[in-house]
Amino acid sequence: MPNRNPNLARLKAGYLFPEIARRKREFEASRAGGGTPASRIISLGVGNTTEPILPHICAALEEGARALGRTETYSGYMDEGLEELRRRISSVYYGGRFGPDEIFISDGSKCDIGRLQVLFGSEARVCVQDPSYPVYVDGSVLSGAAAGRQETGGGYGGIRYLPCTAANGYFPDLSAIEEGSVIYFCSPNNPTGAAASAEQLNALVRQARATRSFIVYDAAYADYIRDPGLPRSIYEADGAAECAIEVNSFSKSAGFTGVRLGWTAVPHKMAYTDGGSVNADWARIMATVFNGASNIAQAGGLAALDGEGQKEIRALTDFYLGNAALILEVLRKKGIPCMGGGNSPYIWANFAPEKSWDAFSRILERCHVVTTPGAGFGPAGECFIRFSAFGHRADVEEACGRLGRLL
Ligand code: PLP
Repeated sequence: MPNRNPNLARLKAGYLFPEIARRKREFEASRAGGGTPASRIISLGVGNTTEPILPHICAALEEGARALGRTETYSGYMDEGLEELRRRISSVYYGGRFGPDEIFISDGSKCDIGRLQVLFGSEARVCVQDPSYPVYVDGSVLSGAAAGRQETGGGYGGIRYLPCTAANGYFPDLSAIEEGSVIYFCSPNNPTGAAASAEQLNALVRQARATRSFIVYDAAYADYIRDPGLPRSIYEADGAAECAIEVNSFSKSAGFTGVRLGWTAVPHKMAYTDGGSVNADWARIMATVFNGASNIAQAGGLAALDGEGQKEIRALTDFYLGNAALILEVLRKKGIPCMGGGNSPYIWANFAPEKSWDAFSRILERCHVVTTPGAGFGPAGECFIRFSAFGHRADVEEACGRLGRLL
C-alpha cells in the first residue's frame, strides 16, 4: 500500500468552513432536542455569493451553452482561454499593459493559488498576512513548503506570518520578509476587509524587490473598491511587473462562484534567480495539469467585461456593499470596533477579550446567526469575527435586527 503524503498530516485540524458547518449542525441538533426557541439560522459567515447573475451576463452564458449545440459554433478544448477574453481582462484591469500571453484563464483563483505553489516547490519560503485566506497556508503546507521546519506553538510551522492588526492599520511590518520569499498578499483583504493604499503597495513591491522575493497578489475583491484613490491591482505599483503575479476571478464580481472563471497575470518580465522565465513555467504547468476553463463560462466572462457587463458588476457589488453598510451600522451601534465593509464585502469585528470561537457560539446561540471565527484565519485573528455581506437583503436585515436586539 502507498504511504500517505506526510504533508497531509501537517495540515491543521479541519478546514475552517467544514468546522463551522459542523458546529452549526450540532447547534441545530441541540435545538431539536428542546430548549432554544426555533428561529431560522441566518448565515453571515461564508464568502459564497447569493444573488442571481444579472441579465446581460446571464444571456451570454445561455448563448455560450447554445453555441455548443450547433455544428458551426461548437468548440472543444480551449487550453489557453479565448484570446479576446485575455485581451479584455488586460484592458479592463491592467490598462492594456499585458499581452494575451501574460493572462492565463482558469477555473477560479483558488484553483490557481493551489497550482501556483508548483512554481516554487517545497523549498519555498512562504510569507502570509496574518490573518489570511486559508488556502495560502494550507496550499503551501500541502506542497511541502512547511516540511522539515520548526513547528511554532499554535501557529503553522515553517510559514512566516506577518501580523495585520489594529495597531499597524492591518498592513504588516515588511521588514520581516526574508530573502527569496513568496509573499501572499490579498487586497481588499479577506478576512480583514482592509484595502491597501498606493503607498502601501509601493512599499510592498520595493521590499519584494529588495529581498528578491515574489508577490502572489490576490485581487479577488478588486471590484469592491469604491475609494477612487485606492489601487485595484498590484501593477499600479512601480516595478511590480518584475516581481508580482496577480490572481483574480469573476466569482465575487459577477456572481460566478458556481460558474468558475478566473485568471492569473504572469508578466514576461518576471524571472527567477537564474534568469528563467516564470511566465514560461506557468504556461508549462497550466498545459500539464489544466485543460482550460469552460467555454460557456468564458462566454459569460466576455460579456462581464463589456460596457453593459461592467454596469452589472457595479450593481451587484453595490448591492453587497449595501449589505455591508447595514452590518457595519449595527456593530458600530453596539460599540464593537470594526474594520472593512467600505471597499470590501467583509467586516472584521473585534470582540476582545472574548475568544473568536466563544463569540461565534454566543452569536449563534443568541441571535441564530452564523459568522466566521477570526482565529480560523491565523493567530492574529484571535478574538475577531468576520461578518460576510453575501446574503439576501431580507436575511441581512433580519440578522442585523437580531444582532441589534440580542447581542
Ligand atoms: N481569493 C480570496 C481572497 C477569496 O476570498 C476567494 C473566495 O472566497 C477566492 C480567492 C476564491 O475565488 P474563486 O471562486 O475564484 O476560486
